[in-house]
Amino acid sequence: MTIGILVLSDQLSLSHAALLAMEQRFGAEEARRRCRVLLVESSGGLERLALHRQRLVLLWSAQRHVALELAEAGWTVEHRPSDSFAMALRHWCGEHGIEELHAMEPADRPVRQAIEHCFARWEQPAAPAAPAPDPAAPPGLVWHPSNAFLWSPAAFADWARGRRQLRMEHFYREGRRRFGVLMEGSGSAATPLGGQWNYDHDNRRPPVRGLEGPPPLWFEPDRITRAVIERVGAIEARRADAGLKPLPGELEPFGWAVTRQQAGQVLEHFIATRLHGFGPFQDAMVSGQPTLWHSLLSPYINLGLLEPLAVIRRLEQAGRHSWSAPEVPPANPASAIGPGGSPHTAKPPSDQPQTGIEPTGQPQPDDQTTGAVAPAAVPLASLEGVIRQILGWREYTFGLYHWLGPTYPASNHFGAHRPLPAWLEELGRSGMACMDTVLAELRSSGYAHHIQRLMVLANYGLIAGLDPQALAHWFQRQFIDGHDWVMQTNVIGMGLFADGGVLASKPYAASGNYINRMSTYCKGCRYDVKQRHGPRACPYNSLYWDFLARHRELLRTNPRMALVMQQLDRLPAAELAAIRAAAATHLGEPMASANVANEPNPLA
Ligand code: FAD
Ligand code: SF4
Repeated sequence: MTIGILVLSDQLSLSHAALLAMEQRFGAEEARRRCRVLLVESSGGLERLALHRQRLVLLWSAQRHVALELAEAGWTVEHRPSDSFAMALRHWCGEHGIEELHAMEPADRPVRQAIEHCFARWEQPAAPAAPAPDPAAPPGLVWHPSNAFLWSPAAFADWARGRRQLRMEHFYREGRRRFGVLMEGSGSAATPLGGQWNYDHDNRRPPVRGLEGPPPLWFEPDRITRAVIERVGAIEARRADAGLKPLPGELEPFGWAVTRQQAGQVLEHFIATRLHGFGPFQDAMVSGQPTLWHSLLSPYINLGLLEPLAVIRRLEQAGRHSWSAPEVPPANPASAIGPGGSPHTAKPPSDQPQTGIEPTGQPQPDDQTTGAVAPAAVPLASLEGVIRQILGWREYTFGLYHWLGPTYPASNHFGAHRPLPAWLEELGRSGMACMDTVLAELRSSGYAHHIQRLMVLANYGLIAGLDPQALAHWFQRQFIDGHDWVMQTNVIGMGLFADGGVLASKPYAASGNYINRMSTYCKGCRYDVKQRHGPRACPYNSLYWDFLARHRELLRTNPRMALVMQQLDRLPAAELAAIRAAAATHLGEPMASANVANEPNPLA
C-alpha cells in the first residue's frame, strides 16, 4: 500500500506529527521506503485572499527549501506549484495510487474544512473549467493531532472548562508550571524565578530622544527565493491581464529568512543583540525604527521553521547563562548577578538604550553550533517579557480560537459595519502621520510590531467602527505572519473588542494622546494632537470621543470604563457635538453633526 503524507505550508517542522507517526509505525527506514510526501504550492486562494507579495515569497520559498530538506533526510518528496490545491492533491494521489493520506490537523479551521470538502467532492472537478480527474475513490484520510503548539485544543479545553474567566495571566502561569519554564524548585514546591510571575509594569516606557534599536538580521535572496520572486511577478502580470487588483505590498527588497537554519540565526541574533533590551521599549513606536527590540520571530514559529518550546528553552538558557560565569552555572542565578542583587533588580542595559546595547552584526556560523549567548546580563523582566509572549499570548490565542469555536469570528459587539477606507487597501495616503508610517512599513516588509498593530491599526478600526470581519481579513492578507487562528483572537478580540470582552477586559480604545505619548509620529503630522475638533483636529481624538458617545450605554456597563465615561459625561454638549462633527467629517459622512448636536448630554 502506498501511503501519502501531506505537509501544509505552515507545517514545516521536521517533527511534523504525520512524519513522526509513520516513523513510529514502520521504523524510520521503512517509513521512508513506503511513504511519499507532498507539499503543494498553491496560488488558488489568491482571488479570495490576495496576500502580501512578501508573504507569498516567504511561504513558497520556505516550502521549497523544506522539500529539499526532507529529501535530504531520505523521504520521497514532491513539491507541486499549482493553481488549485485540490487538483494538485487529487492528481498526485491518483498518479501514485495513494490509498491512505496522513495529515496533521491544520491550525486554521477553514483549512481543515477545505481539505475535508475536497475529499467529499473527490470525483467532481475542482473548478468548472478543470477536467474531471480519474473518478478513483479518495484515499482514506487520517488526521494526526497537531504538535505545532505546546497546548493542544483538548488540553486548553481541559484548562478552560468550568472557569468563569479565561484570564491569560492564569493560563500563562499554568504554562510556566506545566513546562517548567522560568521556575525555581520542582514539583508542587516550584516557584517563579525571581519571586514574581510578571514584570510587565517595567515594560511600558515611552521612547526617549534618539531611541534606536539594533538593526535586525536580513538575508539576501538565494536562487530558490529568486525563482519564487519570479513566480510571484508572473502571477502579478496574469492578474493585471485579467483586470484583477495588484497584490498588496512590495515584492522587493525581500530579506526574510526562508530556511530553518536562517530562522535559527534570527533567533540567535535576537538573543545576541536585543533580548536584554526587549522589555522596556516594547510599547514604543519610533519613526524610521520599525523593529526596535522586537524579535521578528512570529513568521518562523508560525510556519514551523522554529518550534515554540525549543525557542522558549533556548531563550531561557541564554538568559540564565548570561547571569553566570560560563564555566559554573549557579544554582540560583541571583547569586551571579553580583552587587546589583537579584536578576530582576539588576540594572537593565536598556536603561541606556543608545549606548548600552551595541549591535553585534550577523552572528558567525559558530554561533549556531556553540550556542551564542547574550553579551550582557539579560534582565529577568526582558526574559520573562518575551517568554510571556510566546508561552502565554501565542498559546492562549491559539487555544481560545479553538475553544470559542466557529461562530466567534462573526462576533460584532458594537454592531460595526463601516467598510474599510480605500487608503487601508492602498497601504498609504491616509493623511495621518502615525497611520501612514505604519502602513509604509507594512508595505515594504509585511511587518509591524504589536503596539503598531494594536494601537494604531486596530484602534483606528475600533473607534471608526470598521467592520470587524473586513478588518480581520485585511490583517490576514497584509501581514507576513498572518493566519486565521492568530488573527481572529487578536483582531476580533484584542483589537476590536468585537467579542464583548472574552479576551480583553475593556476595549483598547485610545485617543491621539496615547499615540503622542508612546511614539514620535505626531511631530510630523498635519493634524494637531491637542485638538479634538476643527479642521486640524487629530482624527484619533474626534473618533475616540465619538466612539464613547456612540456606545455610551454599552460601555457604561463595564466597570473598567467608568472613569472615561465620567469624562465623557462632563464634556459640554456643544463641545461634544463639535467633536462628533469632526469625526463625521473625517469619515466622510454627510453632516451627521446636525443629528449629534441635538443629542442630549445628561450632565450638561
Ligand atoms: P515580539 O514582540 O518579539 O514577540 C515575541 C513573540 O511572541 C512573537 O513572535 C509571537 O510569536 C508571540 N506573540 C506576541 N504577542 C502575541 C499575540 N498577541 N498573539 C500571538 N502571539 C503573540 N501575531 C502573529 O503571529 N500573526 C498575526 O497575524 C498577528 N496579528 C495581530 C493583529 C493584531 C491586531 C494584534 C494586536 C496582534 C497580532 N499578532 C499577530 C500578535 C503580535 O502582534 C505579533 O505576534 C508580533 O507583533 C510579531 O512580531 P515579533 O515576532 O517581532 O514579536
Ligand atoms: Fe496620529 Fe493624531 Fe498624532 Fe497625527 S496627530 S500622528 S493622526 S495621533
